[in-house]
Amino acid sequence: MLTALPLTPGRKLKLFQLSDPHKQWWSLEETRFCARCEHLIIGRDIRVFEDGEGCIHFRCPTLRCEGGFADWEYPQLHL
Ligand SMILES: [Zn+2]
Repeated sequence: MLTALPLTPGRKLKLFQLSDPHKQWWSLEETRFCARCEHLIIGRDIRVFEDGEGCIHFRCPTLRCEGGFADWEYPQLHL
């Protein structure tokens, strides 16, 4: 079962930096292009959940999109 994690912006950014194996995060205002739902998303809107084992999960803010860090690309490629 996943529960939403209440996070301060500073803590959220720290988690992104620790957890994203693909990209650098300098601020929560950065945008990424989600290759799954083909939407531009903003770091601060990314949803963060914790499962029963204490593992952190990141989800695309788009409704019903299962996108995660592996699906998020730098937006410059899509302008
Ligand atoms: Zn998405």
